[in-house]
Amino acid sequence: MAQIRIQNVRKEFGAFTAVRSSSFTIEDGEFFMLLGPSGCGKTTTLRMMAGLELPTSGEIFIDGEEVGMKPASKRDIAFVFQMFALYPHMNVRKNISYPLVSQGMKREEVKTRVHEVARILKIENILDRPVGGLSGGDRQRVALGRAIVRRPKAFFMDEPLGALDAEFREHMAEELRALHDRMGATTVYVTHDQLEAMQMGDKIVVMNHGVVEQFGKPQQIYDWPATKFVAQFIGSPPMNFLEFEGMIGIGGTSIDLGEAKIEVPGLREGRAGKLTLGVRPEHVRFVNDSAYRGRVSAVEYLGTTQIVTLRSSYGDLKARVPSDQVVREDELVGLQFDPRTLSVFDAETGKVLR
Ligand code: ATP
Repeated sequence: MAQIRIQNVRKEFGAFTAVRSSSFTIEDGEFFMLLGPSGCGKTTTLRMMAGLELPTSGEIFIDGEEVGMKPASKRDIAFVFQMFALYPHMNVRKNISYPLVSQGMKREEVKTRVHEVARILKIENILDRPVGGLSGGDRQRVALGRAIVRRPKAFFMDEPLGALDAEFREHMAEELRALHDRMGATTVYVTHDQLEAMQMGDKIVVMNHGVVEQFGKPQQIYDWPATKFVAQFIGSPPMNFLEFEGMIGIGGTSIDLGEAKIEVPGLREGRAGKLTLGVRPEHVRFVNDSAYRGRVSAVEYLGTTQIVTLRSSYGDLKARVPSDQVVREDELVGLQFDPRTLSVFDAETGKVLR
């Protein structure tokens, strides 16, 4: 098992900066997600941790040892890629045992390890089958088997489920998470899928344009996004943004939305200017007696809940309400937000103010 720490790590490709001064720590045994849109630098970050790419500056520590110049083969990690490259001319057993045989491990030990891995992955019955005729899921398990058989300190996975269809992907995600929980090895997992990150990760780093926007547990990131980018990237539908010229009074903790004044506990004081109020759709409530109102422009039925789109003087917003609540298009409804759940951002920097 391994703790991995990256400190002020930066990567330039010629004039282009792919990763800007990133710092975070992955604790021993964590299932850790590197999340962000395409091109944000998550693969580059993973490759630097693995030793496949040299940082331009900054330091990477594995279990307290600075590994910047240490090649991948000496870092005791296993990589699982999206494309599962198996040796097509070998059967399952040979594919899994190959890393051990090439290390010169004794036959008996190899046999024991391969059986242990096959048991964990529930592939004992296909050990003698050629890999060519296997289903996608079994190929995936064989590839995982080959990665875990070495008992590395850490697993690095780059969009390992990216090529699978939605249903099977969900199933494999559960299997991967269960496998991690049984083995307890530090796992670093790259994905652009926020739902996958939320479901599988103990912790998440959210990246954008080479910058670490936020780092924390899934619930922290969902409830208290550090930036507008994170607020919009996580959650479906994403957090609503209401733009306004705001005043947060000195000594006070309220913001003024025209006639509706909202007390926001914990807000930093004495702030004026362009502000953005962030409200998750499930925190928008419909009430009769609010000065702040919105007109219903669309209703989307989703089974137990429905998504209601509203136009308001501060912008469009979406509410997630129970399906049995009667909502009609064109209706004017009073809106209320639970102040304890609100985020307030500086509209220009995008950074949260509390
Ligand atoms: P994706 O999911 O699309 O792979 P990503 O977040 O993993 O995205 P990276 O692969 O880390 O992004 O790439 C970040 C940026 O760095 C991209 O703009 C990419 O084009 C650039 N980049 C990556 N590797 C190189 C390289 N060897 N030379 C030049 N530019 C590179």
